[in-house]
Amino acid sequence: MKKRIIVGNWKMNPTTFDEAKRIFKSTKSAAEKLKSVSVVLCPPFVYIPQLLNSRTESAVSVGAQDVYFEERGSFTGEISPLMLKDLGIKYVIVGHSEKRAKGQTDEMIAKKVAMLLEIGISPILCIGEETRSEDGAHLDFLKSQIKNSLNKVSKKNIGDLIVAYEPIWAIGAKEAMKPEDIYEMSIFIRKVLADLYGHDEAVATPVLYGGSVNFRNALEIFEKGQINGLLVGRESVNVAGFVELLKTIDA
Ligand code: PEP
Repeated sequence: MKKRIIVGNWKMNPTTFDEAKRIFKSTKSAAEKLKSVSVVLCPPFVYIPQLLNSRTESAVSVGAQDVYFEERGSFTGEISPLMLKDLGIKYVIVGHSEKRAKGQTDEMIAKKVAMLLEIGISPILCIGEETRSEDGAHLDFLKSQIKNSLNKVSKKNIGDLIVAYEPIWAIGAKEAMKPEDIYEMSIFIRKVLADLYGHDEAVATPVLYGGSVNFRNALEIFEKGQINGLLVGRESVNVAGFVELLKTIDA
């Protein structure tokens, strides 16, 4: 059985390394007992090197929340894909809506995705519409977002790609998207991927859902949504809730 992927996006939390260690350690102990779930935690950049040193290879992978689209040079404050590769990072969230809202374009995201795939890091490509409309305009939006974000990626490099469908209106919200709607969207996303790269590649690409997932709604979303995993924001720094979520999906 292919493992389910649960990604925790800590966002800009917590504010001390002691707290980061505590969350990481507790999540790791729970992850060590899981059989069918791979856990990826994406802490703020400053905590990555030390958390990497304390990881258990098979139980928790440490990922990054973003990366820059150049390898080196005069780009103050940015982090190169090569630096992440050198640290041993295997996953990077790309195109999160909170970064897109600050000016990241599909063009920049396309460069990041291609660079990461080229050096053997899995991009967790976030896509999602701002609103949904009766006439299906959000489907056109999503289709072009996927096409634009992957326009530098050839079929031979697609193997490590992970897609995270995160409707913007469901991120940081009170409720997640309805599982039936997630199911519909996961089929749509695979269809777009199949048109671009072929059926087998589309089926092999993990599609995750993100947006207000917690330990209470995770199982229904996972089962009815027919997805390969979850991208979890706020609940991933709430250790008790996140551990419960991991156990539920594993079972
Ligand atoms: C996210 O930041 O990717 C996310 C899904 O956030 P939340 O789970 O808090 O809605």
